[in-house]
Amino acid sequence: MHDKMNEIVSLKNIVVDFDGEPVLTGLSLDIHDKEFVTFLGPSGCGKTTTLRVIGGFVQPKSGNVFFNGQDITHLPPYKRQVNTVFQKYALFPHLNVFENVAFGLRLQKKLDEKEIRLRVQEMLEVVGLKGYERRDTSNLSGGQQQRVAIARGLINHPKVLLLDEPLGALDLKLRKEMQLELKRLQQAMDITFIYVTHDQEEALTMSDTVVVMHDGDIQQIGSPIDIYNEPINAFVASFIGESNIIDGIMLRDFMVEFAGNEFTCVDKGFGHNELVQVVVRPEDIQVVPAIQGQLTGVVKEVIFKGVHYEMHVEQAGYEWIIHSTQASEPGELIGMCIGPDEIHIMQRAEA
Ligand code: ATP
Repeated sequence: MHDKMNEIVSLKNIVVDFDGEPVLTGLSLDIHDKEFVTFLGPSGCGKTTTLRVIGGFVQPKSGNVFFNGQDITHLPPYKRQVNTVFQKYALFPHLNVFENVAFGLRLQKKLDEKEIRLRVQEMLEVVGLKGYERRDTSNLSGGQQQRVAIARGLINHPKVLLLDEPLGALDLKLRKEMQLELKRLQQAMDITFIYVTHDQEEALTMSDTVVVMHDGDIQQIGSPIDIYNEPINAFVASFIGESNIIDGIMLRDFMVEFAGNEFTCVDKGFGHNELVQVVVRPEDIQVVPAIQGQLTGVVKEVIFKGVHYEMHVEQAGYEWIIHSTQASEPGELIGMCIGPDEIHIMQRAEA
């Protein structure tokens, strides 16, 4: 689908050092127009720095930033068609809701008061804050303040909105509501959102494309489903949801050996007897009577998680994690079955 869309932002070989420490190590990425793209990765991997390079707040040591094909590497932030929403809402405390949102329009100095009023009211309606115009921002809830910040970011119709962990300060329930709202908003405004989070569930929920980052570079780019189902390496597999990651040998096309057994899989194109890593998601292991299992193991621990039970099962020195709606007893010998579609093969990471 994406090849039909235009690239709106392109990063080419971006290198950023802080105090001689490499933070981005030659990062390249194309972002398509009207996409919801999320940078996902652990703290310190360089997500915010990448966002700031796009916004123009960090100047790369080398590499280029393109916007609609034009090199904007040296363009100051205010000349870019990009706005930013930060985790700390950074609202102006001395201005009410209306004036906070109107701020970007007033800077343009070409709209009359009537037009400004209309645009601000429209935008407040979009973010669900109609009627809040005269309210003081300091006594709004966190969620409402963030809506004001988003309205302010969108008021002058940027082509791209950068969002740096905007929901980080909200409680879990509100966070989930706002995730859906942000997705709806992005679609309604029909613009590109570039979003930063370290929360994998958030990334999977909202994004068209997830960019998984680690140590200043990109590990994998793909749709949430691709990233979840076909992680490219052990880092991505373990960062995106819980996983069983186990060493194996690709015996031939469609046949892999791990945990002391041979399994049919759907992967091919690996070398004969190539050493690989096998990823199996906890929810993809079927628990069966011991005698029927492809593998048998002893249940070590059972934890109730609300929707499922998480079981830790020891099998030949490896501890498997299994999610099941039915609990086995600690100490019980159980069988495990793994279907060909549930086995994901990755190249073995270098030692
Ligand atoms: P987090 O989720 O914790 O914000 P992140 O992935 O967004 O992490 P960055 O904020 O991009 O990571 O930071 C990457 C690295 O660069 C970190 O080690 C950080 O300490 C360092 N860093 C970021 N900004 C600066 C700066 N202005 N001066 C010096 N070091 C910086």
